Amino acid sequence: MDKNIIRYLEQELINQIAAGEVVERPASVVKELVENALDAQATKITVTIRQGGQSLIGVEDNGVGMAKEDLLLSVQRHTTSKLPSSDLWNIQHFGFRGEALAAISSIARVHIETGQAHESSGWCLVVEGESKIPPYPVSLFQGTRIQVKDLFYATPARLKFLRTPTVESQHILDVIEKISLMHPHVHIIVKGDKREKIYTAGSQENRLLSVLGEDFLQNSFFLSEEKDGYKIEGYVGIPTFNRSTSDKQFFYVNHRPVRDKILQHCLRMAFMDTVPKDRFPVAVLFITVPPEDVDVNVHPAKTEVRFRDTAHVRQFVLHALKQALFLHSHKVIPLSPKILEPIKHYTTSEIIYPTQSFHDRQRDVSSPTSFSLHETESPVLSIPLMEKTVTEKPSVHPSLSFVKHHEKIPFSPKEPAMDFGHALGQIQNAYIVAQSAMGLILIDPHAAHERILLEKLKKEWGQNIGVIQPFLLSLSFPLTESEHTTLHLHGESLKKYGFSYTVSSEEVCTLHAIPEIFKMHDPLFLFRHVLAVLHQEEGMLTAENFIEVLRNQLLGEWGCKKSIWLGKKLSLEEMNVLLRTMEKTPHIAQCNHGRPVYCVISVEDMGRLFHRR
Ligand code: ADP
Ligand code: MG
Repeated sequence: MDKNIIRYLEQELINQIAAGEVVERPASVVKELVENALDAQATKITVTIRQGGQSLIGVEDNGVGMAKEDLLLSVQRHTTSKLPSSDLWNIQHFGFRGEALAAISSIARVHIETGQAHESSGWCLVVEGESKIPPYPVSLFQGTRIQVKDLFYATPARLKFLRTPTVESQHILDVIEKISLMHPHVHIIVKGDKREKIYTAGSQENRLLSVLGEDFLQNSFFLSEEKDGYKIEGYVGIPTFNRSTSDKQFFYVNHRPVRDKILQHCLRMAFMDTVPKDRFPVAVLFITVPPEDVDVNVHPAKTEVRFRDTAHVRQFVLHALKQALFLHSHKVIPLSPKILEPIKHYTTSEIIYPTQSFHDRQRDVSSPTSFSLHETESPVLSIPLMEKTVTEKPSVHPSLSFVKHHEKIPFSPKEPAMDFGHALGQIQNAYIVAQSAMGLILIDPHAAHERILLEKLKKEWGQNIGVIQPFLLSLSFPLTESEHTTLHLHGESLKKYGFSYTVSSEEVCTLHAIPEIFKMHDPLFLFRHVLAVLHQEEGMLTAENFIEVLRNQLLGEWGCKKSIWLGKKLSLEEMNVLLRTMEKTPHIAQCNHGRPVYCVISVEDMGRLFHRR
């Protein structure tokens, strides 16, 4: 009997195995081909799709093209023009693995035409699995046209995993959206089975407009921060502009679209108490890190990266997001244009901008310096009257101006102070009506008070970190393997926040105290819950972050119970004190549960309601 059972795989099989990793579905082919076009410096790319990409994916570009010899090499495995220095840590292109064209042509019928301006003719190559028709000349043009037909014909089992053409087309559009946001100066046309979508070359803001729509531009803010070679820049939707899925969260690391748990997590944490739990913020974030601090070669489709110092990235991104959110958290979504534009829908160039025409600055407020909205309850309810806010120009989203003038207007890092004007009254003992330079403001007093209390409690808690609630009798429990590892990783931080414990040589943990703020909770249950969540999140969550989550939940619930309820009659004086306090409260645009606190009807909006424009 032959003893040797190990054999070399055939080249075709090797390519098909590689294709299994690189080409998950038609959208993966589109991604690879469009990235190749971008690497070839194309300024115009046309993508054609038939049957969700299964029968045809065509990508045509006006890039540098290929010479005849390169064309032959391009479909071989491990052939690339993109790693001249063989340095995997200094990659300037999307591609570097040299396997996409080889992989794709092992599972589909591929037809490539390419031309270089200085040549006398273009060249065409046809590849179907192992068989290649030698390159033959075609009429000269500048760029490359690739047609991928009958995807997975060579590996029919994969066909069964394809979804309907509509679903696959949507995946393709998602891929193109993602890439297009990073390349606003490239003109991209997508010709689908039924529809055609054009991304016109232009500014970053115009591209955002095509991908995320005008609503996003109106309801987002620009963010930019740089430190020690790390940079984050991008656009983030305000908290009330949230969605039911995370599909509109775009992350780029060193110009590469990525799916990254750490970055997603940072966004979730930053919006923790301003977006409802089952909703997701919208964001387009470009992160740049020193090339030696990130490994881009961790995923065959290059959609993931690995950071050298994840804690540093997390801290940098989270801090930038929180800071920006803090500055812009007064913004709310304007009333639905559908309500406000009964006769006409304004096109992009006709957007009406809020102006300063309405200038009733006078407030007839003569309030005491402090009073309680609800005398009988906790002193927390006492809202100190803030000093009068200096009136500044109300905020106009910088992007609105971009859209109008097609040019970048410098972003001001400080959001103008809020001005809620003066209260006019209360509708059926519920919503407050106020008038300010912004126009007419409707306020939900319960939601406003909730946020005010939460921010006040958060501030107080920040000053009391580490205050503990010791037990008369210590509580012991045997540590599980994962609890032991988690304590090893997060023990120091947990101690800093007031969890005091010791571990015996028999792996028994004895809890002596927990943070004072959690004293109403079952201490053992709480401690083990914290350990379980930290373990489950596998380093995505720091102890500090999670305790902050718990704290916000607790304070939020407490604040909700203690807030004035909707339906309580308020005096004008009380309403005005509430307005002054709102002006000074961070994240006032939404309550602890992510519901809006107020909405504004500008004078321009009123003009539209009354058909005056
Ligand atoms: P990689 O992009 O990792 O190099 P690919 O298999 O995607 O690997 O492409 C192989 C090579 O073919 C590229 O390095 C490039 O030189 C060439 N190539 C592929 N597509 C194009 C294109 N659209 N325009 C010009 N050259 C291309
Ligand atoms: Mg490539």
